[in-house]
Amino acid sequence: MKDFINRRDFLKVSVLVSSSLCTGLTLSGIDFYYNKTIEKKGTYKFRIGDFECVCLSDGGYNYNLEDMFSNVPTDCIKEVLLKHGMPTDYIWTPYTYLFINTGENRVLIDMGAGQLYDTTGKLLSNMKLAEIAPDSIDTVLITHAHPDHIGGALDENDKPVYTNAQYFIWKEEWDFWFSESAFEKAPEEFIRIARKNLGPLKDRVNLVDRESEILPGINMIPAPGHTPGHAVVSLSSGDEQLFYIGDTVLHPLHLEHPDWSPVYDIIPEKAAISKCKIFDLVADLEAWVIGQHFPPFPSLGHVTKQDVGWKWHPITEI
Ligand SMILES: [Zn+2]
Repeated sequence: MKDFINRRDFLKVSVLVSSSLCTGLTLSGIDFYYNKTIEKKGTYKFRIGDFECVCLSDGGYNYNLEDMFSNVPTDCIKEVLLKHGMPTDYIWTPYTYLFINTGENRVLIDMGAGQLYDTTGKLLSNMKLAEIAPDSIDTVLITHAHPDHIGGALDENDKPVYTNAQYFIWKEEWDFWFSESAFEKAPEEFIRIARKNLGPLKDRVNLVDRESEILPGINMIPAPGHTPGHAVVSLSSGDEQLFYIGDTVLHPLHLEHPDWSPVYDIIPEKAAISKCKIFDLVADLEAWVIGQHFPPFPSLGHVTKQDVGWKWHPITEI
């Protein structure tokens, strides 16, 4: 197993995957959406330029088809899943987070789901495996405040886990979850979890209201729709770039079928615009992408533009 992969190795893998798709070998070739060997790992180290990065698993969850693709007839979803050799009775959804050591700063993007499900809450044990101490993290970037992104913010005594961190979240996102109008647009349980987990961070939260370089080479970029203040994080070091796309889309099939959307998008029209903006950009740049919920862990790959939508090319070997 390689600890670090480089872009050239990755592109070799991508070409293999692309050509197998072109020749119709998807079913008999690599089942690249559902590689159980990869899924078992909880940490994955790689490098973007000078930045040392570690993908960290918090576990995952089996979503039902109708929630993941809420505007598509179930028969149609099953047909496409079958075509990809994927299970047709549920959508296995990894929860993947990112640690970055820039040399100057130690950064975490999103904080896991905590004990939201009995299949989540593994982020801290995987950080320990990767020898990352929570109190060594100085910066936490929050893509949005859904339970699986902020549920691990507090310890069992409701105190912040990342005791030495400054937190960054989009201003519109913070304002939304603490507003009364949230009750018209989001489940009450989501609002309760957001307020419980974000409230204790209040004194150390920095609200971002425009595309900003948070740290040298690390930017937050607005991508609203999934939630009102949803943001994407980009990393740039040397001649490499990576985009951590949060929940801009939840599944690779949301790229192949750009009109498919999940029940969780609060403002679907804006989510559709953000999807085009972000995925056209990452395809043009040939950037690395972490699709936070893309199977399999480490949810790392790249995206190419197609006649309709985009195609996800995950790394197939770690
Ligand atoms: Zn999510």
